[in-house]
Amino acid sequence: MSPNLSRELRAVRKEAVSQGWTVLRGKRYWKLRCPCPMKHKKSMSLTPSNPNYVKNLLGELRRATCWKG
Ligand SMILES: [Zn+2]
Repeated sequence: MSPNLSRELRAVRKEAVSQGWTVLRGKRYWKLRCPCPMKHKKSMSLTPSNPNYVKNLLGELRRATCWKG
């Protein structure tokens, strides 16, 4: 995994925490849980192989959850 991708994943986790999400580390995935009543959830790979992984993930978060920004 490239240093860039690693940094992007860290930025997503940091942003999640700043929006009040809970971030838990599983075996292969980070588990993101939102603070709103709809209890949105998203898994984030620890070691994605797709270079567009973070971009796609953010798109899904914006479309399907209460993610802001
Ligand atoms: Zn939510």
